[in-house]
Amino acid sequence: MDHKDPRLTSLRSEVDDVNERILSLVQRRAEIVLEIARLKQAMGLEGYDPKREEEMLHQLTARSEGPFGPAEIREIFQAIFRASLDIQNQSWKEQLQVKRRDLVPEGGIRVRGVAIGAGTPVVMAGPCSVETPEQMEAIASRLARLPGVKILRGGAFKPRTNPHTFQGLREEGLKILRDVADRHGLATVTEVLDRASLELVAEYADMVQVGSRNMYNTELLKAIGQLGKPVLLKRGFMATLEEFLLSAEYIVSEGNHAVVLCERGIRTFERWTRNTLDISAIPLLKQETSLPVIVDVSHALGRKDIILPCARAALAAGADGLMIETHPSPDQALSDGFQQLNLDEFEDMISQLGLDGASGKVGAAAKREWKSEVTA
Ligand code: PEP
Ligand code: MN
Repeated sequence: MDHKDPRLTSLRSEVDDVNERILSLVQRRAEIVLEIARLKQAMGLEGYDPKREEEMLHQLTARSEGPFGPAEIREIFQAIFRASLDIQNQSWKEQLQVKRRDLVPEGGIRVRGVAIGAGTPVVMAGPCSVETPEQMEAIASRLARLPGVKILRGGAFKPRTNPHTFQGLREEGLKILRDVADRHGLATVTEVLDRASLELVAEYADMVQVGSRNMYNTELLKAIGQLGKPVLLKRGFMATLEEFLLSAEYIVSEGNHAVVLCERGIRTFERWTRNTLDISAIPLLKQETSLPVIVDVSHALGRKDIILPCARAALAAGADGLMIETHPSPDQALSDGFQQLNLDEFEDMISQLGLDGASGKVGAAAKREWKSEVTA
């Protein structure tokens, strides 16, 4: 039997020995590469150097005398280079500020006394756009009575796709939002579109919203990072989760840790919904960061008939809250009328969600707990 042949046994043991040496050499190489990456980072230099990589490949392939030819040598070393880049990226990712588990305090992120990410789901609700004082009064007076609804939303600066549609009331809208929210004990969130209006928006709002279309606006993100105000950062509708986290990193690394992430659906081939709600984003983001995650079911779906099951799914997947659009007469709304719940529908939905402001539990679980408490 050939495996007993002493020559074969000896050659095999030689191969094992070479494997061991290659293994320890590639590991040593990886250690050196990581050390170089750390040095380069400290010097503010780019980690990946394609020119140097090409030079190394050239030298190695030019000197290969066989049995491996230049093509095989190139392939082997390219695999080593690729793996080295992967571990560099991995170690660089681990150093991101958004990865820090102590980023958000136990009590969550506070928006004028409302804690987001502290165990109790928070609902942010209101119209797509602030339109009139009467509209906002009708909404705020109703919302303020509902469990879990703590933050009033409403756009004053609107990022509309069509420039010939309503663009928002601007400062007038900010004033109306502030005024009704104060009278009904609600906090506010509203969108900021650019650096030029950031100070103005921050003067009136408790939380500034970076909309989906601005998630890549790095200059705006940096400016918000220097702001002492909580931020609702919406996921770009074409953004990967990695890009989303890196946008949050822009804000966090400037010193503002009060960032709440908002999944609001991404664009896919599906046309039955306005966007596709990415439920997997919730647990994935929570694995990667301690920042709270809320879900905007209105913009994700663009329709009202399936908001309730999708909101339940979001909370079941671990969302720290929801954003929902509501309007006293959606048919007359100046934007997104088709997706806004009227106030009765909204109240009905909140009661069906079974949000309980005190325990933070939702649905049947909350009701059961409440029942056992009263019978005990
Ligand atoms: C909004 O919340 O008003 C809005 C425009 O949403 P998005 O940026 O997610 O499209
Ligand atoms: Mn809207």
